[in-house]
Formats: sequence, C-alpha cells, structure tokens
Amino acid sequence: MLGIELKDVIDIFLVAVILYYCYQVMKTTRSVNIFYGVLIFIVFWILISKTLDMSLLGGILDQLVSVGAIALIVLFQDEIRHFLYRLGTHDKTNRLLKWFHSEKRNSLDPAYRNSSEDVIQIVRACSNMSKQHVGALIVMQNDQSLGDFAKTGEGIDGKVSQRLIENIFFKNSPLHDGAMIINGSKIVAAACILPISHDIDIPKEFGLRHRAAKGITQETDSLAITVSEETGNITAAYGGYFKSHITTEELERLLMKGKF
Ligand code: ATP
Ligand code: MG
Repeated sequence: MLGIELKDVIDIFLVAVILYYCYQVMKTTRSVNIFYGVLIFIVFWILISKTLDMSLLGGILDQLVSVGAIALIVLFQDEIRHFLYRLGTHDKTNRLLKWFHSEKRNSLDPAYRNSSEDVIQIVRACSNMSKQHVGALIVMQNDQSLGDFAKTGEGIDGKVSQRLIENIFFKNSPLHDGAMIINGSKIVAAACILPISHDIDIPKEFGLRHRAAKGITQETDSLAITVSEETGNITAAYGGYFKSHITTEELERLLMKGKF
C-alpha cells in the first residue's frame, strides 16, 4: 500500500505549479541561478536528511533549512517586492479599494484616457525628437497609478502638447533628464526616476533609458515610449516587451490602444 491519496496528488500538483510560476518569473533575470541553487540544495537536503538518514550532516542541513524562509526573503527581496507591488496596484485591487473608499479616481475613468488629439501631439513630438536625435522617455499611465514614480521628479500638471513635450526633452532643459509621466490629457511630471530592469536578454545597444522603459512596464501596466538620442529610433515597451524601430503611424495606433 503506497498510501497516496488524492490530497497528496493535488499537493504535489500545486507545488509543481508554484515552482513553474517562480521559474517563469525569474527566467529572464539573474535570479534564476539562485532559484536553481535553492532547488539543488533542497534535493540534497532531502537525500541526506530524509532518504539516507545521515544524522550529522543532516542535522547541519536541518538547521540551515529552519532559517531558510528568512534566507529566501533576503535572496528574492526584489522579486517579492515587485510581486506585492503589482498585487497592490493592480486594477482589480484598486477597484476593490475604490469601492471601499467610494472615492472617484481619475485613473480609472476611461473618459480621462488619451484623446486622439493628445495622441497626435505626443506622436508629433516623438517624430520631431526622433529626427533631431533628442533623447526622450515618456510613460503613459494606464489603470495602475504612477504616483509613486511621479513623486521622484518635478510636478508639471500641464496639458499634453507637442511644444511642451519637446521643450522638456530639449537638451538644455533642466528637466530633460529622466522620464515624463502622462496621465490622460495631463503631463503629470518630468525628470522622474524609474526602476531599471536587470534582465539579461536586453539588446546590447539599449542602455539605461531603455532599461528604465522596460523596468516601469514590468512593474506596472503602463506603456513607455523611448526616443533614442544615439539612433533616433522610437521604441515602445509594454508588459516588459519592446517593439523597436516603430514608425509614427505604428506609435499612433499603440497609443490609441494604450497597449500592444
Ligand atoms: P539612447 O539610445 O538615447 O542613448 P540608452 O538606452 O542608450 O538611450 P543611455 O544612453 O544610458 O540609454 O541614456 C541615459 C539617459 O536615460 C539618462 O540621461 C536619463 O535621462 C535616462 N535614464 C537613465 N536611467 C533612468 C532611470 N532610472 N529613470 C529614468 N530615466 C533614466
Ligand atoms: Mg545610450
């Protein structure tokens, strides 16, 4: 009698799903090696302590495993932080919080989203900056609030306009460094500092501006546009993915949708 019940099968299945999910999350970052290391350690521990029943080495490993939860929190603090941030700022969570607070939030009102006039202004600005090789990073807010990131820069609270956007990113402007955050028809802030993606699969020609675009779209549901100072190329990022060398027509279509 093996003594395996349905409960055990479900148990094993759930552990496999969790491990697979962790692997998927970490696949593109360096932390996947830590994940492999932890897996190897667990297999080694089960072999020594449980299967072979080696008491001395098993005892030492048992001690290490008992502080394992804390060690995992330290090792994966970035991933845990990102996961909880996403959960906390997720649309559904926000709707729930909104329901609790009965507060009207602009970012959840579809009428507040980019009008075609706003999109035209942004596209024209990007097209000009691309021709003149002016570097730019613009983040378009979707459902998740970008308030925390806006706080790292300079509040603008101005209407979206081609001239204002170009002025901000003009090389001698004091606000040209960093990212601009746009919510609907408003330029919320400029010179904002965004989280940098540490992924290893980013093309070599992409530097910090593009890493910041990837970083913010991995952490939030926003859409980021970069204009390269070096090449003049326009790139859009959404959900951590890039669409490079896009034309102004493609940019217009993306901005109308607010996502890929
Ligand atoms: P480019 O193609 O324009 O050269 P790049 O991807 O190669 O872009 P860098 O050359 O490293 O990137 O661009 C540096 C600029 O990116 C900085 O001057 C700054 O404006 C912006 N930048 C860098 N890090 C961040 C960040 N964390 N948040 C927002 N903007 C950033
Ligand atoms: Mg560069």
